[in-house]
Amino acid sequence: MPHSHSSPSAMLKSGLRRSMLLFLITISIAVLLVSGWTMWSSWNRMVEHGQMDARNLSQSISRQAEDTFLQVDLTLQDLRDRVEINGMGSEQKDYLQTLLQSRKATLPQLHGLFIYDYKGSWIVTSDGKIPAQANNADREYFKFHQRNNDNRVHIGKVIRSRSTGDLIIPVSMRLNNPDGSFHGVVLGTIRIDFFRQVYGYYNLGDRDTLSLLLSDGTILYSRPFDDSVINRNMSQAPLFSHLLKAASSGTADYRSTLDGVERILGYTTLKRYPLVVVAGFDKQELLKSWFSDLLIYAVLSAILLMVICLLGYMVMRHIRLNLQNQIELTQVRDQLTAMNHTLQSLALLDGLTGLANRRQFDLFLQQQWKRAQSLKQPISLLMIDVDSFKLFNDNFGHQLGDDCLRRIAATLSNLAASSEALVARYGGEEFAIVLTGQESRSANTLAQKALEAVQALAISHPTSLSGAGVVTLSIGITTNSQPAAGDSYDGLITSADAALYQAKNQGRNRAVVL
Ligand code: GH3
Ligand code: MG
Ligand code: MG
Repeated sequence: MPHSHSSPSAMLKSGLRRSMLLFLITISIAVLLVSGWTMWSSWNRMVEHGQMDARNLSQSISRQAEDTFLQVDLTLQDLRDRVEINGMGSEQKDYLQTLLQSRKATLPQLHGLFIYDYKGSWIVTSDGKIPAQANNADREYFKFHQRNNDNRVHIGKVIRSRSTGDLIIPVSMRLNNPDGSFHGVVLGTIRIDFFRQVYGYYNLGDRDTLSLLLSDGTILYSRPFDDSVINRNMSQAPLFSHLLKAASSGTADYRSTLDGVERILGYTTLKRYPLVVVAGFDKQELLKSWFSDLLIYAVLSAILLMVICLLGYMVMRHIRLNLQNQIELTQVRDQLTAMNHTLQSLALLDGLTGLANRRQFDLFLQQQWKRAQSLKQPISLLMIDVDSFKLFNDNFGHQLGDDCLRRIAATLSNLAASSEALVARYGGEEFAIVLTGQESRSANTLAQKALEAVQALAISHPTSLSGAGVVTLSIGITTNSQPAAGDSYDGLITSADAALYQAKNQGRNRAVVL
């Protein structure tokens, strides 16, 4: 239904919708930002914890590695001292063999203990067996000690044992003659399986790593990789290319060149030995556990967001409905007002003559009376009665009577049109005119004109008591030239009535002023 409210109300609605949408979008963005920030900071915390754990773990296994090598180191030192004092001649071999055997038995990491002479020939071994023609002069550690007069322990790359075929780490020391010349090598071999076992104790993820490396980057053992990575050189990895140059221990975060897995690393260099241990946690795994931790949070945030949107939608709907109701109410009110106007005009007009009715007359008189009081202006009232109208009805019937009343009404209405007067049907065949702001002379003139005009209509009325033979009027006039403040207009009516009564008594068809 087209009506005058459609445009502003549509604007109001779209404005409300826009601000509500803005509100919803703002809230949604806020929720997303807070959730995002929470998740991000929780991920950061997770990574930090991972780094701390990796570093702690690397420190703990570095201590273990240090102990493992120190025990072998001390054993080798002891053997060296004995050999250098007592020599390793044939008379010493049984004693040395027993010593090697008992020392080996005390250290679980040891695969074997060996003594070689300056040519690399096997002199004594902890298990008592010496392979025929065995010579270790080709071994890296042998050549190293041959070249370097250094009494410190030397740790070599992983080799396969010539006596058992096991993977072993050679830990060796140079034997000197009393003059300081090269006398041979004492060797302790550490089983790779020992580290396999020790590192196996740690309860780690499938792709988490524990590694023991030489400080030149050579892998000695790395869990969980197979033995093919052993002796692989990692000197190009960031850990060796720069991280270890900056600090002997720390944490890092990079993709492994071995298997392409991104790990959080904790690394520690051993204090006594050129060894590095590295603990690495699979970042993917960390991400998974972070995600599963946050899943509930993410779901709750999503639900919260949905609830906010739903509430927003409901509020918007409510507003829309409310607005619709309001608009409809306004329409109804306007219609009622229009109807009321019609009713009011109906209530204020006389149905037969179209003049103001008695109700309007009363209201008008009351209002004009007050106005005359406050402005100190004169106010006049003319009471007009049709002469012998009952007889007219009796002679001509009610319908002609009505016609007659209409014509008189029109005539009076025309006369008063120029002045600020109200012509009303007072009741039955009586009319009244209220005239304000004019002297009593004007009221008399108006009354005279009315008498003449109605007589001039020449509506035949042979039986009228006025004796005019036509319809005539009797008029009672009264004027209050300056109504006093406390007075009521009742006096005006009483006085006009009395004047009218006199006019009737004096023979009708006349006006009397009182
Ligand atoms: P008087 O000169 O003394 O006024 O005599 P009258 O006959 O006019 O006075 P009365 O009050 O005895 O009679 C008034 C008559 O007016 C009575 C009634 O039949 C008639 N009348 C009143 N209202 C109407 C009306 O609306 N239509 C018609 N046709 N007659 C009406
Ligand atoms: Mg009358
Ligand atoms: Mg009359």
